[in-house]
Amino acid sequence: MSKPSKKINFYRTSLQYLIILLLGYMVVRAWIDKSYLPDYEAYCPVGGMQAFSGYLVNSSLACTMTTLQIAMGFALIIAVILVSKLFCSFICPIGTFTEWLGRIGSKRKWMFTPKAWLDKGLRIFKYGLLFITFYFTVEAGELFCRKFDPYYAVFTGFGGDVAVLYALLALLVTILGSLFIRQFWCKYLCPLGAATNLVAYTIYFAAITVVYLILVFPAGLSISWTWYLGTLCLAGFLLEILKPETTIFPLIKITRSEPLCTHCKICDKVCPYALNISTADKVSHIDCHLCGDCVTRCPEKGALTYNRRKLQWLPPAVVVFMVACGFVWSSFNEVPTIDIKFGTPEQMAKASFYEQKGLLSIKCYGSSMAFANQVKEIPGVLGVQTFVKHHTAKIFFNPSVINPQGIKAALYTPVKEIIALPGPEVNQLFVLDCGIDHFFDPNDAFLLAEMFKRQPGIYSFETHFGEPVKTIIYYDENKLKPARIKSIIETREFELIDNEQKTTAKPGFSIAWMNESSITVNRKDFLKGMFTPYDHRFNEFEKKDTLHLGIYEIPFTECLYPDKKDSVPYLRNHLMADKGVVRFQTSWKEESPVLLIYFDPGKTTKQAIYLSLTRPKLHIQYKSGETEDIVNPFTFPALNNK
Ligand code: SF4
Ligand code: SF4
Repeated sequence: MSKPSKKINFYRTSLQYLIILLLGYMVVRAWIDKSYLPDYEAYCPVGGMQAFSGYLVNSSLACTMTTLQIAMGFALIIAVILVSKLFCSFICPIGTFTEWLGRIGSKRKWMFTPKAWLDKGLRIFKYGLLFITFYFTVEAGELFCRKFDPYYAVFTGFGGDVAVLYALLALLVTILGSLFIRQFWCKYLCPLGAATNLVAYTIYFAAITVVYLILVFPAGLSISWTWYLGTLCLAGFLLEILKPETTIFPLIKITRSEPLCTHCKICDKVCPYALNISTADKVSHIDCHLCGDCVTRCPEKGALTYNRRKLQWLPPAVVVFMVACGFVWSSFNEVPTIDIKFGTPEQMAKASFYEQKGLLSIKCYGSSMAFANQVKEIPGVLGVQTFVKHHTAKIFFNPSVINPQGIKAALYTPVKEIIALPGPEVNQLFVLDCGIDHFFDPNDAFLLAEMFKRQPGIYSFETHFGEPVKTIIYYDENKLKPARIKSIIETREFELIDNEQKTTAKPGFSIAWMNESSITVNRKDFLKGMFTPYDHRFNEFEKKDTLHLGIYEIPFTECLYPDKKDSVPYLRNHLMADKGVVRFQTSWKEESPVLLIYFDPGKTTKQAIYLSLTRPKLHIQYKSGETEDIVNPFTFPALNNK
């Protein structure tokens, strides 16, 4: 009796271990280096396919998706059509893991083969999941499969977008299923498996796509993309259970030589899908992912080949080539996160455009849309594309109405930022005027403030539009000199805690010019210049007789404090709960800011307002109806009843 060859499937095993090692490296590095944010889906082709579908439907890309993932999605599709489902056999970590679990199940003799009706019936789940994940991803603009994807759940430690209960259930089902049924995950649950099978049924896939496109475009019928998706999923399932053999595509198939074959059936046993190879002329079953295990373990040299040739090197070579192509293509191209046109097709045909780089606040779909809404208000702007990876926007405009300089000026948000309050011992502050290159975005101002906070002696800065951006810095000449300020501004990188995450910020600013005059400003004028008045009327203020309103005036220097000034609106929100309070105003009086609280003496008292102002927690009521209690950062002098 023939014995299986002892050879190992070298290329496949090497690639599988390489992927596992890469993932292991990401986990260990994230554990050691807290500033490293691993992206476990960076190369996920199914995410890329979903993201690209969303882009076609909504002209927007899911924030977590990158051009690289889309490139991997296209690489996978091309590889499936030309060769086979190579991602499944050579790369997919879930496939590798469940295959290893299957080996444990085989050794322990737990494995069983489901009856044909059960095997066919279970296959509907992966098409159902394919429909659900694509549908919700395109509708919501975010990767829906993350909620229950066992791979994503395990590598993110059940954090991120994971719905813990669903993910745990998916993980449990996958582990148990893989111990008892060969390739349980791949055959019955994997949405990527369903998508690649659809592509492998190339002719049917192309036919449905062409019919849909004809109905929608030349025929002008309004058929939602969900009907197309649903038809594809149903067709994929029906083909799998009624006609599991593929036709011409994929082009490469395992072929058996009858004269050389001894019918030992070893190939049937080693096939991860338990396909019937020993009696077939060629393996056309949709489950075959061209792993080559049957070829490697067949004891008869030349009995199993690829299209009757010794091409065992071809599938791994295609995997490496396609992944490399994906990397190269994505490094030269970027799919826009949003692509929105406000102008008519005629206006767009004559539009000019310019690229605005360094927009650090453009980080995702939401911030891209906020930016689009901002540029839409500028007369002459016709459209915008954003590229979050490089924080860049491409702005389309009518050159007879506006030019890039005008757009930049309209987009620029001037900043007035207090870094620290000068103590009473500081009588005079020095003023440094400079122009900063590569500075445009509000996030740039945030980075500059973060850098200045690390240096005692810098009290404030303000910026005004210009190219370079004109910046005025207030500082104490006794603590640092302009040369030191220049070196701080030109810091190449520094560590930053942003949203509780340690990251490395790389500002890239440079000083274009610097005016080292010895202009000074006294402390009082400086504070007054930094003061921003605040005035809010509410609780039916307009119906009140202003002559009969009480005014509670309190010193409010803390509204200038850098760490407290952003909480002023929360204090106002907190006071609004008292229906007798009708106006909240901050004002500059003589030498310092004051808070003026207008109230209806028939409904509330100074005592009640004082008690409210000095509560340890501020009770915030949001427009959505939700409430939140936050620590009250303000302190107030005792109530003077005079
Ligand atoms: S191809 Fe023939 S000889 Fe080779 S393992 Fe299969 S049954 Fe045995
Ligand atoms: S038939 Fe051969 S190549 Fe295809 S899945 Fe089975 S073992 Fe792998």
